Amino acid sequence: MLNPNRVTELSAVLRGRIVQPDDTDYDTTRRVYNAMIDRYPGLIVQCRDVADVMHCVNFAREQTLLLAVRGGGHNGGGLGTCDQGLVIDLCGLKGIRVDAQARTVRVEGGCTWAEVDHATHAFGLAVPCGIISSTGVGGLTLGGGLGHLTRKYGLTVDNLLEADVVLADGSLVTTNAQQHPELYWALRGGGGNFGVVTSFLFRTHPVKMVMAGPTFWPLEKAGEVMRWYRDFIVSAPEDLNGFFAFLTVPPVAPFPEALHGKKVCGVVWCYTGDDADAVFKPIAEFGPPLMHGVQPMPFPMLQGAFDGLYPKGDQWYWRADFVNELSDAAIAEHLKFAAQLPTPQSTMHLYPIDGAAHRVKSSDTAFSYREANWGAVFAGVSSDPAEVPAITAWTKNYWDALHPYSAGGAYVNMMMDDEGDDRVRASYRDNYPRLAAAKKRYDPGNLFRVNQNIKPH
Ligand SMILES: Cc1cc2nc3c(=O)[nH]c(=O)nc-3n(C[C@H](O)[C@H](O)[C@H](O)COP(=O)(O)OP(=O)(O)OC[C@H]3O[C@@H](n4cnc5c(N)ncnc54)[C@H](O)[C@@H]3O)c2cc1C
Repeated sequence: MLNPNRVTELSAVLRGRIVQPDDTDYDTTRRVYNAMIDRYPGLIVQCRDVADVMHCVNFAREQTLLLAVRGGGHNGGGLGTCDQGLVIDLCGLKGIRVDAQARTVRVEGGCTWAEVDHATHAFGLAVPCGIISSTGVGGLTLGGGLGHLTRKYGLTVDNLLEADVVLADGSLVTTNAQQHPELYWALRGGGGNFGVVTSFLFRTHPVKMVMAGPTFWPLEKAGEVMRWYRDFIVSAPEDLNGFFAFLTVPPVAPFPEALHGKKVCGVVWCYTGDDADAVFKPIAEFGPPLMHGVQPMPFPMLQGAFDGLYPKGDQWYWRADFVNELSDAAIAEHLKFAAQLPTPQSTMHLYPIDGAAHRVKSSDTAFSYREANWGAVFAGVSSDPAEVPAITAWTKNYWDALHPYSAGGAYVNMMMDDEGDDRVRASYRDNYPRLAAAKKRYDPGNLFRVNQNIKPH
């Protein structure tokens, strides 16, 4: 139960604002990206600076409140909010500073990737991130970070040089390879388990224009395409990334009208090298495709290309797995569920995790599945709440059918919040005991538990 006097005291020391259930904007403020998540926090604090975060952490611990931390609020399982407790909303921590000389960028904890891309692109630089620019930097980074630049430059965590973290005792530490190295190890894949990251320092890379876009093939050819893709992508130059997808062609330009509403399979490419003609020739000819939409574009345009198709407020139910190989038997199962995509936004993606991401050892960072070739995500999505049962059933059945062909665990950023302890342990494998020890050192009381939780041991 919240003590109103304590809340008044908290309010007096904050620069940010407290939003409570009787505030007129409470309802909009409490909502996160996934509309299936409908939680009612007791307090949402829109923090403005590190001191605000420290005050909130101390307040939650002293008042024994459930504590959630919100970066971009994008998490499918709704881990950026909670019922009754306190939400630290980092929306006021928006500073970004590019050091073009050192090729780094310092990013505060409440930024989205669109904001980072905007800042770094001006210098012809980019940080490897995901495929949707409205996603928060905080959650995506701490879980690993898979995206268009993974094969060339690794996971987002492979480019994390340093972080400022407010720990469970309310203190602020800076962690990097020299300072608090165990915390630095744990943050790179261990999610929000260890504290609130108020600032990230990333390595950037020279990426400005890319050759990018989708190639679509008819769904009837999907078996052939998947068998070609599984061999092609793992031996392709690392300058080329391409994630495989089943999708329904959106009824908007630039897609040809003849394809609008058609279920297809496709690959979304991103090429950072300088021999696009040679790299794309076999792709443009394979099939042949229904559409080969690859063209030169600024990297932030690619990053934002799907934002309009996936706005905040849709219902999402998703499951994930790591995948080492795409066997013919697995492909046969994929084809069954691709033919039954329950809504136009529902999809299945296979994100490559090879190339530069493979060169980091499983034990080098908390992110364990370094030998996997793909992260698979099965996502049932709809703007209509009435379709929740259909998208949930499709996703669960699809995952059930494919899980036996998977590597075991899943990318923690693409799990729901109800998948259980065993699933978290399976995702960290041999790294779990070391994570549990780091948790015991940095958060022995498990204050930070609204996440894919690692128990302190
Ligand atoms: C449409 C869509 C597309 C996506 N695409 C990709 C993709 O291409 N690649 C990819 O890797 N992932 C992708 N994701 C998954 C994404 O990485 C996770 O949903 C991630 O949790 C989102 O981060 P967030 O900060 O927006 O989330 P939130 O909901 O704000 O937070 C998620 C978790 O991270 C913790 N957290 C967030 N910020 C901080 C912080 N600063 N300090 C401590 N803990 C923090 C929270 O406590 C919570 O446990 C996508 C998600 C969606 C919905």
